[in-house]
Amino acid sequence: MQILFLGTGAGMPSKQRNTSSMILKLLEERGSNWMFDCGEATQHQILRTTVKPRKIEKIFITHLHGDHIYGLPGLLGSRSFLGGDELLTIYGPKGIKDWLEVTLITSQTHLKYPLKIIEIEEGIIFEDEQFIVEARLLEHVVPCFGYRVTQKQLAPELLIEKADALGVPRGPLLRLLKSGQDVELPNGNVVRSSEVTGEPKEGFKLAVLGDTRYCENSILLAKESDVLIHEGTFDTGTEELAREYGHSTIVDAANVCEKAGAKNLIVNHISARFMPEDIKNLAVQVSEYNFPIYIADDFNEFSCINGKLDRI
Ligand SMILES: [Zn+2]
Ligand SMILES: [Zn+2]
Repeated sequence: MQILFLGTGAGMPSKQRNTSSMILKLLEERGSNWMFDCGEATQHQILRTTVKPRKIEKIFITHLHGDHIYGLPGLLGSRSFLGGDELLTIYGPKGIKDWLEVTLITSQTHLKYPLKIIEIEEGIIFEDEQFIVEARLLEHVVPCFGYRVTQKQLAPELLIEKADALGVPRGPLLRLLKSGQDVELPNGNVVRSSEVTGEPKEGFKLAVLGDTRYCENSILLAKESDVLIHEGTFDTGTEELAREYGHSTIVDAANVCEKAGAKNLIVNHISARFMPEDIKNLAVQVSEYNFPIYIADDFNEFSCINGKLDRI
């Protein structure tokens, strides 16, 4: 999986940062992308990437503040213009359905694909054979969710040399062995799946949080995750403002990561008060923590393999 930030700013766009949006690229895993939040002009940001709107399968909205949703109607319309014909599912807090439906009807936006809007409660909001997505309420000034994406255990790798050595012919028997079934060969020999497959691999765990003060649910969502994406609107020295406006400092984000035992932290939702030259100072405030911490810029892309996160 890869993580691509389309907007890393807070509240409103600035010359350096657009409003919130992030893409979880699952092209290898399921041939599609998932989006988290869709601030104004997100589709303009997409134009500068290789992301195809028709490949966006799900959009998870953390909360209904404009800097997280004002890009949705335009993106939904363009997805239709650009040939998207597959189901798009949007998950978000109560109110998202009314707002979107009124906006699409008023602007006479006719989508050529099925759109499903799910107003969520806390708990598991999606599960299939590959993934589980869980939502929990955070502490902001309006209802705001954080999400935890868990990739289920991956099928073990087929050790083809071992299968060859045992005389398994290429074809359906190999597929059965890979799926965990023991098979009988044409010569009567039985080959066990465990003889020709490796260890099952753990999938990734990712926590994507919306706007929030430091809170326990953030820690639960991020528990032992590979990557935690946490807002850091404020910094040391502006803690009072963070509390008042329902936000976190970069140190709060690092504390959540530490308490949760998450492997990597990416901080987003950066206030426009911080100019590019201030970012180094922000990093200094969290230099004591012993896990990798990145402050995301727009268009930063990260790759996570076996818990190791790299900016690509
Ligand atoms: Zn925000
Ligand atoms: Zn907000």
